[in-house]
Amino acid sequence: MAAADLSLIAYGDFVAGCERCALAAGRTQVVFGSGSPDADLMFVGEAPGFHEDKQGVPFVGAAGQLLSKLLAGIGLAREDVYVANVLKCRPPGNRDPLPEEIEACEGHLFKQIELIRPTVVATLGNFATKLLSGKPTGITRVHGREQEVTLGGRTVLLYPLFHPAAALYTPRMLDVLEADFARLSDLLGRDPEPAPAEPEPVPVAQPVQLGLF
Ligand code: URA
Repeated sequence: MAAADLSLIAYGDFVAGCERCALAAGRTQVVFGSGSPDADLMFVGEAPGFHEDKQGVPFVGAAGQLLSKLLAGIGLAREDVYVANVLKCRPPGNRDPLPEEIEACEGHLFKQIELIRPTVVATLGNFATKLLSGKPTGITRVHGREQEVTLGGRTVLLYPLFHPAAALYTPRMLDVLEADFARLSDLLGRDPEPAPAEPEPVPVAQPVQLGLF
């Protein structure tokens, strides 16, 4: 069967046996992606880490917990979005992806985008941003600025964000990531989360008038 005819699940089964690069030899399993197969919003990270390699699911470690928390902050759950990575296999010791690994693996990501048909693709960090924008400009310069790109034969809004792993230990980066996240509802054309209800004003005891007059 040609890869072009496959559904997302069938494509995941196909990728599970991938041996396009040397990372195949050291992996526990391929980490294909998780979430809704017809999500409007797709996130693309870098590569599986230790926990992802063991569990077969992207973003399950500390960075993943932050991602889930940021999503909850805009009224979304992991099941509402789709999450994948540039690389589907863990690089040894969590080192950066090599150019030849990205080249070998990028077809899988492009195929996922083609099958999922998201409206917004939020890239997490430099590797996903550079790959999907097709430009070498780093995340520090482009985060929080949407750009139209053609992916999977369609125009999508690419929305670069700092990688949650980087924001975990840098409070200023976390502030920026939260602020950038807050614009996602707008980009998706969703009503923003209702602001939390104002607390009832606490009645202030009137000062007792002293009977001086
Ligand atoms: N976990 C992932 O799945 N991807 C990352 O980029 C980082 C942690």
